[in-house]
Amino acid sequence: MNLILLGAPGAGKGTQAELLVKRLGIPAISTGNMLREAMANGTELGKLAKKYMDEGALVPDELILGIVADRVAQPDCEKGFILDGVPRTLAQAEALEAKGVKIDHVVSIEVDDGKIEGRMTGRRVCAKCGASYHIVANPPKTEGVCDSCGGELIIRKDDKPETVRHRLEVYHASTEVLKDFYAKLGRLRTVNGDQSIEGANEDILKAIGAKV
Ligand code: ADP
Ligand code: ADP
Ligand code: ZN
Repeated sequence: MNLILLGAPGAGKGTQAELLVKRLGIPAISTGNMLREAMANGTELGKLAKKYMDEGALVPDELILGIVADRVAQPDCEKGFILDGVPRTLAQAEALEAKGVKIDHVVSIEVDDGKIEGRMTGRRVCAKCGASYHIVANPPKTEGVCDSCGGELIIRKDDKPETVRHRLEVYHASTEVLKDFYAKLGRLRTVNGDQSIEGANEDILKAIGAKV
């Protein structure tokens, strides 16, 4: 099963992707995590992506398509994969179709803009594996330490309120159109993201026809 998780920054894509990985046994592919890893390792890709990410702008489509095409071709994606945060533009969605990357369900996690800032100010991410936590809604067992890998939890540079506001604008201007694109293809499923993490997860499982 090949899935796309769509939604505004902070809607819960990463959190839900982690739960779906455990439940469905297929890998999650987060372009945001891949780009942050590239930045941390100082690779060419990381250097190119940094200025866009720091400003909350989108990284150019060609860079994204290159890393996604390579990743979905890996053997662990044979039984399916979860795309988290990609595609984010019509050009990316069209390119995936053109490359023959088959998508079964596109789950749009819906959260109003007004709820996003509180999620972002409380977000902490694992510097090592990218896992996402929240100081109130989803705290780690030990403060500052990732439950799954023991890595250090940090605040993302682009989670400051000004950058978050810009990322929301970018979402509405460039990414939200993908809902229409996939609705026309009959693949769009919409889920209320403004509920508990477990509740949203159940709704996603139902939306993709998995047993809850
Ligand atoms: P995205 O990947 O869409 O940017 P995340 O999964 O990283 O979003 O979630 C953003 C923040 O909101 C994180 O701090 C996460 O722990 C928290 N969060 C995720 N889902 C919920 C929820 N249903 N209710 C409250 N907080 C949530
Ligand atoms: P969030 O889900 O919280 O918005 P991500 O980790 O998905 O954050 O993305 C962080 C940043 O990485 C984006 O603001 C953008 O600069 C870049 N990025 C990630 N995925 C893409 C993509 N598919 N296309 C363009 N830029 C991307
Ligand atoms: Zn971790």
